[in-house]
Amino acid sequence: MIKRIFLAFLFLSLCISFISFRTGTPAATSKKQKVIKTIIVDAGHGIMPNGGHNGARGAYSYEDEICLAVSKELVKKFHAEMPEIRIVESRPTEKITPIHRRAEIANENKGDLFICIHVNAAVPIKRSELIGHKTVTYYTGKGKNRKKQTKKVPQYRTYTQPNPAKGTETYIWGSHKNEDKEVAMRENAPMLMEENYKVNYGDVDPNSPEFIALSLLKTKQFFKRSATLAGYVQDEFSRAGRVDRDVRQRGVGIWVLQATAMPSILVETGYITNRAEEDYLNSKEGQKELAGCIIRAVFNYIAWLEKQQQTSEQDNSGNNGRQATHDVSAMLHRIEELGCNRAR
Ligand SMILES: [Zn+2]
Repeated sequence: MIKRIFLAFLFLSLCISFISFRTGTPAATSKKQKVIKTIIVDAGHGIMPNGGHNGARGAYSYEDEICLAVSKELVKKFHAEMPEIRIVESRPTEKITPIHRRAEIANENKGDLFICIHVNAAVPIKRSELIGHKTVTYYTGKGKNRKKQTKKVPQYRTYTQPNPAKGTETYIWGSHKNEDKEVAMRENAPMLMEENYKVNYGDVDPNSPEFIALSLLKTKQFFKRSATLAGYVQDEFSRAGRVDRDVRQRGVGIWVLQATAMPSILVETGYITNRAEEDYLNSKEGQKELAGCIIRAVFNYIAWLEKQQQTSEQDNSGNNGRQATHDVSAMLHRIEELGCNRAR
């Protein structure tokens, strides 16, 4: 009898392990494919309602035109090389999209990545040279002692020279620069409470320790992902022979990076104020090369993300860590939902 029970138990265990093996494999594969579902491509600047260009200006071209051309090339390549990923353009035409709307589009579409395309500009270098001297009359003393004097004053000519700055840089939003976590959170607060952004957290108190902890976790997670992608982008530019000006952080000034609830990068593809780079940025080959570099970086990023996910799954198996992670993501998800619903 005992033997029979044991055999039945053994059979049952084998069945269970077989079923879990069968169901386990496809589940892991489908999860792997869903690391990135939606990418937002954001072409910087655009034509303003009054018809004027918005952004930097070169010798013969405008930043907004190049941003759109590079973004279109990028979108085309994404469709061809990663057809399973949904691509959303936040500025699909030459017309400008207001900054707050860009972040809304990204958040409403639940983007997994936000890629912002820009063109850099450097202010012309001011120079001056001595062109001669001028005789200036002045007086000293008072009354009878008043005397007429003359002196020679150097004369300068000031002029500007084009700034030779060139190369690429990729920006990420850098709240981690603040060692003090509370300061980082306070810096986030105006963005979270921004009325234009229309984010309302409902019952969640933004000053509660839970909210602060969760937001920090999210900021930290996004920071790591944004920094990794930005690094891959710069690596690819460097491989293509471009001048690598590195990954840079900004705590202020790049609003879209801060307001998008997803890993986000802003790529400065080159200097419109450098004539050789302006030619490159306006050429079809240049635009294709830039898009190709960004696509390869996204491929590398996805591979990295999948590896990260596998590692965390292994770490969580066998304990209730997985449950804890799910609780945190569920609450973050709820916060995002609340934000998106209010934005519509
Ligand atoms: Zn710009």
